[in-house]
Amino acid sequence: MATKNVYFFGGGKADGNESMKNLLGGKGANLAEMAGHKELRLPVPPGFTITTEVCTYYYKNKKKYPKGLREEVEKAVKKIEVLMGKKFADPQNPLLVSVRSGARRSMPGMMETVLNVGLTTKTIPGMIKQSNGNERFVYDAYRRLITMYSDVVMEKAAGIEPKDDESGIRKQLEKIMNKMKKDNGYQFDTDLKAQDLKKLCELYKAKVKEVLKKEFPDNAYEQLWGGIGAVFSSWNGKRAVSYRRIERIPDEWGTAVNVQTMVFGNMGKDSATGVAFTRNPGNGENAFYGEFLINAQGEDVVAGIRTPAPINEYSKSEHNKELISLEEAMPKIYKELYGYQRNLEKHYHDMQDIEFTIEKGRLFMLQCRVGKRNGPAAVRMAMDMLKEKLIKKEDAAMRVTPAQLDELLHPIIDPKVEITHKALAKGLPAGPGGASGQIVFSAQEAVNWGKQGKKVILVREETNPEDVEGMRAAQAILTARGGMTSHAALVARGWGKCCIVGCGAIHIEYAKKELHVDGKVLKEGDWVTLNGTKGNLYEGELPMMDAGQENKMLTDFLKICDSIKRLGVRTNADTPEDAKRARQFGAEGIGLFRTEHMFYGKGSEEPLFRLRKMIISKTEGERRKALEELFPYVKKDIKGTLEAMDGFPVVMRLLDPPLHEFVPRDPAKLQDLAKELNISLEELNNRAQGLHESNPMMGHRGVRLGVTYPEISEMQIRAVFEAAAELLKEGKRPYPEIMVPVVCEAKELNDQLEIAKKIYAEVLKKYNLKKIKHLFGTMIEIPRAAFMGAELSKSAEFFSFGTNDLTQMGFGFSRDDIGGFLPDYLNKGILPDDPFQTIDQAGIGELIKIGIQRGRSVRRDLEVGICGEHGGEPQSVEFCHRVKMDYVSCSPFRVPIAKLSAAQAVLKEKIKK
Ligand code: ADP
Ligand code: MG
Ligand code: MG
Repeated sequence: MATKNVYFFGGGKADGNESMKNLLGGKGANLAEMAGHKELRLPVPPGFTITTEVCTYYYKNKKKYPKGLREEVEKAVKKIEVLMGKKFADPQNPLLVSVRSGARRSMPGMMETVLNVGLTTKTIPGMIKQSNGNERFVYDAYRRLITMYSDVVMEKAAGIEPKDDESGIRKQLEKIMNKMKKDNGYQFDTDLKAQDLKKLCELYKAKVKEVLKKEFPDNAYEQLWGGIGAVFSSWNGKRAVSYRRIERIPDEWGTAVNVQTMVFGNMGKDSATGVAFTRNPGNGENAFYGEFLINAQGEDVVAGIRTPAPINEYSKSEHNKELISLEEAMPKIYKELYGYQRNLEKHYHDMQDIEFTIEKGRLFMLQCRVGKRNGPAAVRMAMDMLKEKLIKKEDAAMRVTPAQLDELLHPIIDPKVEITHKALAKGLPAGPGGASGQIVFSAQEAVNWGKQGKKVILVREETNPEDVEGMRAAQAILTARGGMTSHAALVARGWGKCCIVGCGAIHIEYAKKELHVDGKVLKEGDWVTLNGTKGNLYEGELPMMDAGQENKMLTDFLKICDSIKRLGVRTNADTPEDAKRARQFGAEGIGLFRTEHMFYGKGSEEPLFRLRKMIISKTEGERRKALEELFPYVKKDIKGTLEAMDGFPVVMRLLDPPLHEFVPRDPAKLQDLAKELNISLEELNNRAQGLHESNPMMGHRGVRLGVTYPEISEMQIRAVFEAAAELLKEGKRPYPEIMVPVVCEAKELNDQLEIAKKIYAEVLKKYNLKKIKHLFGTMIEIPRAAFMGAELSKSAEFFSFGTNDLTQMGFGFSRDDIGGFLPDYLNKGILPDDPFQTIDQAGIGELIKIGIQRGRSVRRDLEVGICGEHGGEPQSVEFCHRVKMDYVSCSPFRVPIAKLSAAQAVLKEKIKK
């Protein structure tokens, strides 16, 4: 049998269902589910879906359709006709349809839809009769068809590129309408009378002919096929392609086309259209939330042409509270809609985003899909639905993406400062957190300024899908119009970006690049600060702070992750203070404590001076004396950190950087040092010169220092064991792991192990102890070390993969110089990601696997972890789980993200099995 290209839905039945998203697209699969599933059978206008496979075929075969598609489509149209008792293209009783796009994953507003297809000079009289002589409605529908069709089919799909924003056909037609409104003194589109609209349609058609050099088609079937072709073409439209790049949606997926019986929200005061969410997508509250417009068609709600009204009391806000709600205007319909949305949520076990239309007092459902939400809302919904027993704990852990969790950890405006500032204006809180930046007024400027490393806030009347790249580049988005379901809000919510919409008090002068608000004039480049959680706009740059750790919802959510994950999550911390903070974030130990950090920054003067003395020393005797002076500082730091992490392991790395890094450059400092060492300045300079290396990153550093100057390792190891011994005496449970860096050969490690054994024995004796719990191990950061895993694990009890250096040396890419070529590598698709952010699984990952496998072949209980930047990056954490590491370690703020990713890694593995 030939493949089925067309799937029908309607009349309480459907060929497809919700599980067929890959074939039918999200919209088509959910229309089928709503129309045909026995638990739902909602009032969905009948229609059919042409599969995504047809789209793939179309692009592979020079934009031709598979054989038999025409017949299948005609048969499906017949089926609609029978159900509706109307006929497509029929002059007496015409059927109108919409032609809608719909890919596997929703791409809001990125592709095209044409409404009112089938209206021609032949069917118009029949339509007027059908609507009881409502000429106004029919010509309103007709002018919309001409606008959408000429824009989508005759211009965009035909590949015509207007030379600027203003010369596109849609804009040109809008101008005609605006002129007509102005000439007649009308404020709203709804003020236009039947005769006006009729005349408008004639003007439109003439304009289309003039600009696009083609007649607007007056044949229903030609319109239908034009629409279908245009939807397929829109898959490769500019905006859709750029959105796919950002969202990493594969080009091969293709879109489906949905052809569906039109229902009309623009038939008068008893008609309406709207969008709603089964829970509040802005904060997660379990309350029905939405907006609607009386006497309007589909796209009007999102486009921000009139301010939409709230569907109920709960949805009222500052800017729409005067408007009458659906609940008040049409209580019966509201009740029906309320029932459907409850039913949908129960059926899908998740928050749904729905579209509905009311035609002369009858409710129709036009779309449902899992609703986008911001981070705080995602966590709240997951925890609430778990409590309501709508989902299980495993589902809850999968409901929040790492990026959404990141939003909860996002900066906010310092509340202490915020209360002392008066907001310039207030809008709708569409994207949480705070952001400040310099204002720009176009997406292009946002991109340009962003490239220069500037922080910008994109300010627009409203955004449209053409602005996505600029929205991406901006710290935050501010719009004057639009509601919580407007384009800007939808996109920002998807990205977790700070955003305020519907900020009616601002007035934008694009031409002058000015923003007028509260009697002030702000110019391009002026600073503003947004509180996207409250919707407040402030002048100037207010200080930001990290989000509160006191979030109970977050703590509970992380407990769920803890109960699922297998990987341990440690943190990288260099000071006792960092260690304390990391524990509050839930870190289960320290994966990397860098001793050298005590020589940088605050309080480092004293120890640094002594370290320098040690470095400049010439003889072992001199050096030992300097090390003795240094010892108490090192021990104190180590003790503080072990204490802060009491009961948890702490990986202490021995001195890593090349000594030359610590030689002072300041002449006064050099003088002091010479005096202290009792040598001349000239001698000092000579010694410092002697430390110079031409390639220090691969020079005398790490374990190599310990090999040439064993006394340096001795001092550090002694500090570790003595600190631990003292803590033991105080009744604490220290657990140090001594880590030797930059190892490439087992004999290097053995050399250090001998030192460690000697010192261990001495410390035990000094403190009269039998045992200090500890591990001795190495960092794997040189490719050779990975290959030598079996040899190394003879003396190493743990491996910690230092993936920053392993990537640097594995690729031969200098981490500090990658900026010069990485952008080109990413743009050309030579590399899928920055390998310093996401582990390169194919190459570096292979090294890691070899290292682990060889290491464990000798020592079965070898402890394995990772301490590079990758330890907090979701994809890399999943990799670490799969290769059976024991833990990941990352910066304190990424601990929650690593925990979530670790839990999701377990669940994804289960799904695969
Ligand atoms: P998008 O994916 O951009 O939301 P849609 O295909 O959902 O595009 O359609 C755009 C608008 O047109 C929506 O508001 C939708 O509800 C409305 N619409 C689509 N098909 C119909 C129809 N058959 N009858 C009435 N309104 C429709
Ligand atoms: Mg839609
Ligand atoms: Mg290193």
